[in-house]
Amino acid sequence: MAVVQAQRDVFHVRGHAVNWILLRDGRDLTLIDTGYPGDLAAVEESITRIGHQPQDLRAILITHCHIDHVGGASRLAARYGIPVYVHAREVPLARGEVREQASPLDVARRCWRPRVARWALEVVRAGGTRPPVVPEAAALPGDGPLDLPGRPTPLPSPGHTSGHCGYLIPDAGAVATGDALVTDHPTGPGPGPQVLAAMFCHAPGETLAGLEVFAEAPADLLLPGHGPLWRGDPRRAVAEARAHAPAGYRPG
Ligand SMILES: [Zn+2]
Repeated sequence: MAVVQAQRDVFHVRGHAVNWILLRDGRDLTLIDTGYPGDLAAVEESITRIGHQPQDLRAILITHCHIDHVGGASRLAARYGIPVYVHAREVPLARGEVREQASPLDVARRCWRPRVARWALEVVRAGGTRPPVVPEAAALPGDGPLDLPGRPTPLPSPGHTSGHCGYLIPDAGAVATGDALVTDHPTGPGPGPQVLAAMFCHAPGETLAGLEVFAEAPADLLLPGHGPLWRGDPRRAVAEARAHAPAGYRPG
C-alpha cells in the first residue's frame, strides 16, 4: 500500500489491487471508496499514516458498487458510525437488489493470461467473490458540492455501473474517476488513460459517453480507481481512452 499526497489535502492511496482517496479539511476526512474486504486494515492504516484516525471520517462516498470499492464500507460505517453515500441510481446495487459485476473467475476464464490468472487469485484472496452490497448506503445528499471535507461534487458517469459517480474536488482541481476512467489494470494493455475491459462494464457504450463529465471538469489531476494518478488536461485523457477503447465498446 502506498499513500500518495496528490495535493496538500488530497491523498491517493494505492492498495495492492485497487485505490481509495482521502480528502482532508483540518481534522476531518472524507473517504472515497474502501478497497476489497481484505483491504480494511490497509484503509485504516492509510488514515493513521497521514496523521489521522478513522474517527476523523465524516463520510464515505462510493464511486460504484463493485466489491473492490465497497469491500470495507459496511464495517467502517458500523465501527465508526459514519454515513455511506452512493449515487441514487446505485442504491439498488448497494442493497443487493441488482448485480452488475463480473466475477473474478468469469474474468479469468474470458481472458486467460498468466498476469490475469494471478490477479484473479489475488482478488479471490482479498474477498473479491463476496456480494458487493452496502445495505446502509444512502443516496447522495445533493448534486452540488457536498458539505463534507474536500467539498466533493458528484460527477455522475453511468455505464461501468448504472449509478457510477466520480467526484470533482474543486479546490484541488482534481477528479476521482472511479472505474469509468483508469490508468492501468492487470487485464489492460499497460499504463495510460483507458477504460476497463468491456466485461467489467454494465453498459460499455454508455461508459464512453459518460466520460464527457470528466473531460469538461475544471481539473488537471485525475485520481482513478485503478492505476497511478495522472496529471494533465482531462480532455486529453478522455480522448485517449475513447480512441483506444477495447473490443466490446463499439458496435462492430
Ligand atoms: Zn474497480
